[in-house]
Amino acid sequence: MTVYDVRIGYDIDDVLTRTSELVIEGVNFKLGTDYTLDDFVNPVIEDCFGLTTEEVNEIFSKPGNKRFPDDLAPFEGAKDVVNSYHGLVDSQYFITARDPSFREATIRWFDDNGFLYDPRNISFKGVVGEFSLDNTAERKAQTVKDLGIVFFVEDSLTNANAISEHADIPVCLLEYPSNKGARHSNVVPVKSWVEVERELLRVLEPFKK
Ligand SMILES: [Mg+2]
Repeated sequence: MTVYDVRIGYDIDDVLTRTSELVIEGVNFKLGTDYTLDDFVNPVIEDCFGLTTEEVNEIFSKPGNKRFPDDLAPFEGAKDVVNSYHGLVDSQYFITARDPSFREATIRWFDDNGFLYDPRNISFKGVVGEFSLDNTAERKAQTVKDLGIVFFVEDSLTNANAISEHADIPVCLLEYPSNKGARHSNVVPVKSWVEVERELLRVLEPFKK
């Protein structure tokens, strides 16, 4: 039974998953280095670790001895929140900048990790339907606005600022070394999914049926 007549949205990488950890593992495997998450201070992997785009693509095709995205660890607490609001809200959307070629693998990951979701509500390249804009942050922000989403969870500072400003909604930003900087007034920094849920409850209260 729907309790809250709203749509909420989530990014996937580094929000539902521990993607940065897998990236670091892949970078270390390729370069023979011992970087940690604290070294991942620039969201542009090429710039952060002095790699070419081809090298980054190689890392993603086989990060260490792991597979992307199948072997991604889930972010602690994400499933509990997503699953407890599945059915309680009108719809939950998962809006990622991943290429649509990752659709099958992404759905497999959701299933393998026990997430409750509607596969029609997973959007790739930040959009539902045809691509309209080139910039990921703008595409995501426009998609969030078009869908009428009232609350979003992100890990990218650029995306969080764009979504919160353009769609005029609160956005929870899970803190990472790579997302320090000036935040839009409606971007709420959080350290865990316990804090995400606290914000979610606050935001949803006025929408209770
Ligand atoms: Mg992300």
